Amino acid sequence: MKREGAIFIISAPSGAGKTTLCKEIIDIFPALRHSVSYTTRAPRAGEVHGKDYFFVTPDEFRRMVAEGEFAEWAEVHGNCYGTAIRTLEECRTNGVDVILDIDIQGARQLKERYQGGVYIFILPPSYDELRRRLNGRSSDSDEVISRRIDAAAGEIRESRWYDYVIVNDQFPRAVEELKSIVIAERCRTFRVLEAVTELFDIGTAD
Ligand code: ADP
Ligand code: 5GP
Repeated sequence: MKREGAIFIISAPSGAGKTTLCKEIIDIFPALRHSVSYTTRAPRAGEVHGKDYFFVTPDEFRRMVAEGEFAEWAEVHGNCYGTAIRTLEECRTNGVDVILDIDIQGARQLKERYQGGVYIFILPPSYDELRRRLNGRSSDSDEVISRRIDAAAGEIRESRWYDYVIVNDQFPRAVEELKSIVIAERCRTFRVLEAVTELFDIGTAD
């Protein structure tokens, strides 16, 4: 059935596991597309330009901001990150569901702009476990890890205005919860109403 594309916005303190969860959910739902952000941060080992991020220079990023190309953008841990309007519009008009792994500042900007977005916050089971995961990822320096831990409490406070909260303790359970949200959100009346109205010739509501 024809359906309006859903925008899933996922935020979490760095290290809570949202990249891992997003990859898993995209494997489960191949029609769900990952929105590739632009960033001024340097690629980590194994990251691919155009797949994980579009890695751009600060000058190029500033140009995109000046020309209004971003639906949202923010400075996170000293680097700039942004979601292009074009990426979201393409998905919306083609009825494609899209998943955004973005920080809280960006999520707030989108909440003002896009009605119908689905806001999901991923929590780690504890601060200790968050530190363990950041250390285990071994992609960031000790200084960067400490900065990310310091930022976590303030970020977690923001979880209260999200639509859903998932505690990523046991990974398979967190995946089940995320899967359930995607499935339920796809059935929301407002996403299918136009198709139902056409299919069953029921006319519009009074
Ligand atoms: P984020 O994108 O939120 O910064 P990542 O997805 O990179 O976090 O995960 C951080 C680290 O934690 C990775 O090494 C990942 O494999 C690990 N991880 C993710 N989820 C879990 C989990 N439920 N239990 C244990 N380790 C996890
Ligand atoms: P990382 O450098 O670990 O990939 O990401 C750091 C933070 O930037 C994460 O919280 C991630 O969600 C956020 N981020 C990634 N892309 C975007 C984006 O396009 N916009 C915003 N606002 N944040 C982003």
